[in-house]
Amino acid sequence: MLTIIILALLTLISSFLFNKIFCLKLNSRKKQYEEIRSNYERLSQESGELTANNIDLKNELEEMVALYDITKEICKSLDEAKVFELFKEQIGRYVKVKDCKLLDKDTDLSAYNDYIIVPLEIDKTNAGYLVAGGVEEEYKDKFNILAQQFVLGIKRAILYHRVQELAITDSLTGVLSRRHWLERFNQELERSKKFKYQFSFLMVDIDHFKTFNDRYGHLVGDAILRSISDRIKENIRQVDLIGRYGGEEFSVILTETDKEGALLAAERIRRAVEANDINIYDESLKISVSIGIAVFPGDAVRPETLIEKADRALYQAKQTGRNKVCVCGVDK
Ligand code: GH3
Ligand code: MG
Ligand code: MG
Repeated sequence: MLTIIILALLTLISSFLFNKIFCLKLNSRKKQYEEIRSNYERLSQESGELTANNIDLKNELEEMVALYDITKEICKSLDEAKVFELFKEQIGRYVKVKDCKLLDKDTDLSAYNDYIIVPLEIDKTNAGYLVAGGVEEEYKDKFNILAQQFVLGIKRAILYHRVQELAITDSLTGVLSRRHWLERFNQELERSKKFKYQFSFLMVDIDHFKTFNDRYGHLVGDAILRSISDRIKENIRQVDLIGRYGGEEFSVILTETDKEGALLAAERIRRAVEANDINIYDESLKISVSIGIAVFPGDAVRPETLIEKADRALYQAKQTGRNKVCVCGVDK
């Protein structure tokens, strides 16, 4: 009986101990499992954050590449209108904008109150405005960045033309420089040859210019040169070409113009100079010009000969009293 009781007690104790050990093991497993789970959750959260960061970086990179592409596109042209066209084309792809235009510097901006206005400042002078209406709030920053790229593109185009202008025009009078004029002269000669057109060549020389220079000084002389070049420009057509051939000599090509037409134009220039005294500082100066004319192809076909013949006609005008027009081969 006692043996049975002892055996029962031993069984009870061993089952209790077994349970205890089993529970302890289970608890430790559970703890391990929870630790693994929390690690897993932390890692998957971190992985999510990294993916989001990655997406942000990718978007940023894409935006930078897009910006670079736009800048590259905008800078492809050196023509101001074309630069704007390219900008509008590009901006339509990245920003929602209802109305985008270029305005002249003298435009009254009061009608553009709710527009984004970007002044185009070139060398500290205002060259106009870029305005955009209906840009949604979320696109405003992007628009402003792109607008700055546009300003750079426009600056580049304007400065390029200024440099070009400096190279092809005479800085004192603004007419074509001798070098550039000669280039255009040759082009006109080729064109006239090809299409069998006539054109006239005028050599205009200020009479007694040296006397004015000596009496009033070179600054007055320069002002006379500017004034005479203006007078000539006022009396020829836009298609005609005027250049500064030498110190006080201007060369003019009257395109598709025969001898009669050239005589009329030259007389118009001569009279305009004679009739308008030039007012410089306190002086009112009476200036006159002499003009020699030669016509392509009647008087000469080669450029040097044509110039020489007009020069000869000019010499004749000087010899026979100045303030007059002489035509090649015609004694007057
Ligand atoms: P004519 O009409 O009868 O031929 O005499 P002219 O005195 O006009 O001609 P001349 O060739 O004797 O003198 C031209 C002068 O032009 C001499 C030169 O000092 C002056 N000149 C040349 N270039 C310039 C310039 O850029 N500015 C000024 N102020 N004078 C110049
Ligand atoms: Mg001269
Ligand atoms: Mg002269």
